[in-house]
Amino acid sequence: MLFDDFNEPIIDQNELLRQQIQSLVVEDETRGDQLIADEERADDPDLETIRKKRQNGCYIWNTCCGHIKISKPEEDVCGKCEKLRKMITDAHTENEKLLAADAMRDHIIAVKKEKELYKTCITKAKEELSNIAIPSFPAEPLSSDYQHVHVTFDFAQGVSIPHFARQIGALYFLTPRKIQIFGVRFDGFPLQLNYLIDEDQTVGEDGRNVHGPNSVISMLDDALSKYSLGERVLTLHSDNCAGQNKNMYVMAYFAWRILAGLNTEVNLKMQIAGHARCLIDGGFAHLKRQYRRTDVDTLVHLAEVVTKSAYSNRPVLYKATNGSRNWELRDWKSFLSAHFRSLRGISSYHYFRFSSTYPGKVFLKKCDDDESETTFTLVKRSVDQVPLNRPDPVTPKGLSRDRQKYLFKSVRPYVRPMFQDITCPTPSEE
Ligand SMILES: [Zn+2]
Repeated sequence: MLFDDFNEPIIDQNELLRQQIQSLVVEDETRGDQLIADEERADDPDLETIRKKRQNGCYIWNTCCGHIKISKPEEDVCGKCEKLRKMITDAHTENEKLLAADAMRDHIIAVKKEKELYKTCITKAKEELSNIAIPSFPAEPLSSDYQHVHVTFDFAQGVSIPHFARQIGALYFLTPRKIQIFGVRFDGFPLQLNYLIDEDQTVGEDGRNVHGPNSVISMLDDALSKYSLGERVLTLHSDNCAGQNKNMYVMAYFAWRILAGLNTEVNLKMQIAGHARCLIDGGFAHLKRQYRRTDVDTLVHLAEVVTKSAYSNRPVLYKATNGSRNWELRDWKSFLSAHFRSLRGISSYHYFRFSSTYPGKVFLKKCDDDESETTFTLVKRSVDQVPLNRPDPVTPKGLSRDRQKYLFKSVRPYVRPMFQDITCPTPSEE
């Protein structure tokens, strides 16, 4: 299916052209890849024909329909768009058609407004920091008057190690070490921290709960602490995902930041699910591109991939080379749930504001246009009873013995010998 800039399906006008191009480009793709990769068949006359077909196909595509984008499998699909699209297709009466079309129009206008707001936040953040050199972090909390510091955070799709630029067929059917990537992007500079989390560095065993509040808040808190500009007002954009970002623990964490005197105002904004493309995804795309063409045997190799992938991309490992920890995993969930209550109806809100003028409270809006805000008291008892220190660090659960044995027996043969003891070591004694 083809889609335009607004993720709308292109109706059949381009179908004929698409078929012509497909016959030129796609038809021979698999065979062409095999031939091109096979150096011994460099003189094969078919190879030249395929190359010419591809060149012609690409030329026609770029000239005639460069504005058309092909939806990629990893991109989120908006549930509401899909539902409205179906309503438009299924509408029989004129009234039904008008109602469905109006609903789709309203939705797209709302999406465009959210995107404009996100762009404005980025532009202001860049303008504010355009004339300053990157300072030595971190600054003392509340020591500066920056008003537009903007941060985006999200998870990327995980990767695995070992990984080779030339895919080894049998490795495809195994389960190598899974590495999760959590990004925190400071859009003003820009600087994107990519936390690389090995499956033995998570709250649960064998990589479980890696997307839970303890992991998310621990990494976000680490990034905001180490790269603070001393800003009073902090604005953040995050994915509209209940499990990772939009839950009572993340809300309680920002309320705690205000109480702890780390900011005087925090604005957390979420774009509409399925339309939340932002710059952090661009950082992830650079990272993935470099990863695909690099041999990666260890976590340190993956960190090198991140460094090489883009000027703004920076890796953050849990363990430093000397064995110490670069950041701490903390039990924020227990700490925050003891002092803050859950926010009823959280899923219908997209804007959350926390202010030192009203400590312990959150102000809610469903969309940017809402005239009035709803107030909710997050703190359970008095704000004076909330501890201002961070909770104690916890130790990751590590790998189960079964997983260690699997990695040693099945995955180790595919790791280059000098790195085998790092990525798939001998299983520990019971
Ligand atoms: Zn949509």
